[in-house]
Amino acid sequence: MTATPTPPLSPPPAAMADPAAGPLAEARRLVEDRSLDTVRAWKAAHPGALAIGHLPIYVPRPLLEAMDCLPVALFGGGDQVDIIRGDSYFQSYICHLPRSTVELALAGDLDALDGVLFPAICDVVRNLGGMWKLLFPDRYSSYLDLPQNLDPALGGRFYADELRRITRELVARGATPLAERALAAAIARENARRDALFALDALRRRQPWRVPASEAYLVARAGAALPAADHRALLQAYLNAALQRAVHRYDNVRVVVTGAFCEQPPLELIRTLELAGCDIVDDDFQLGWRYLEGPIPTGAGADGIEVLARAYLDLGTATASRYIGEEEKGAALVRRVRRAGAEGVIFAAASFCDPALLDQPMLEAALGAAGIPFTSLKFSENTGQLQVIREQAGAFSDAVKLWGSAA
Ligand code: SF4
Repeated sequence: MTATPTPPLSPPPAAMADPAAGPLAEARRLVEDRSLDTVRAWKAAHPGALAIGHLPIYVPRPLLEAMDCLPVALFGGGDQVDIIRGDSYFQSYICHLPRSTVELALAGDLDALDGVLFPAICDVVRNLGGMWKLLFPDRYSSYLDLPQNLDPALGGRFYADELRRITRELVARGATPLAERALAAAIARENARRDALFALDALRRRQPWRVPASEAYLVARAGAALPAADHRALLQAYLNAALQRAVHRYDNVRVVVTGAFCEQPPLELIRTLELAGCDIVDDDFQLGWRYLEGPIPTGAGADGIEVLARAYLDLGTATASRYIGEEEKGAALVRRVRRAGAEGVIFAAASFCDPALLDQPMLEAALGAAGIPFTSLKFSENTGQLQVIREQAGAFSDAVKLWGSAA
């Protein structure tokens, strides 16, 4: 006798699809494009136009776009690259970023670039620029000196002259000569991208359970090799989708992460902090996108290069590689914590990052005086052992939640 077949159970309701899945998949594809295939595709679609790489932190991308160049932000090799040859070009006790950048270049992964700009952030980037010239003498490269004197008549003039020099050099390499109208249009596109990024940050601050920092990071990073208008469209698509999500609210601790403005932590490290109970409501990851704390002013008749220089002087965010004048070190961080409604700070600096680590004691003192709890960790772009970080961040978030301090 055969058993009566059990009637099939009714199927479970289909899992609600995440409306943000599409934009996130596109962002991931762009972020994982180690060999710059998107840049190659862009160049094929724009014959003769230049793709110009730039190291962190800040390079005025609208200037490049106005000359029909594609700006390409370089953040090193992340956790996708085994550093073998890159190690032999630098001393041991420096961060990873220059070594993995050389590794990528020697492997041909950066061949789509017609040139690279090295903004003055630290001695390591300066040395990387020098090494680059030795390795690739026929390719365009330039050190972009940034002013530490913020007087418009001195630092402003110096910076504008630097931008004009780079403009001339790029034209000599085949870029479109700079026209004021094109620069004004590129600045407007950059401001629109910035608006989308700030809208994303604002939503993240209000509802971090709707926009996890690890996702915000991905869609911001996806713009590294995109024209500003395309990046704005991707950011907007993600934002619109995130607003439609069904979400659960978690009782996490709100933290600011600071110190990772140049070499980037692996995405898994950001996720680890989230899993440890931290909502990252503000950070300085990929600081170049948000280096200016307001839109670049626009105005009919203004000299665009002077406008860019003045924006750098007046709107540049406080960070370790920038002279901040008379203000107490750490005051800007305290303001960020207050603005974000954060309950604590996690210092996350790349190992051997002199600018971040030399600043940190002064920032800690400012937080201490303001009664803001903090903890600190170090990473490298290919950090793989995350359990210790998870335990440390978990202990920090528990302590803040229970006692309002890390003590
Ligand atoms: S991570 Fe720090 S030390 Fe390394 S290149 Fe960047 S700013 Fe310089």
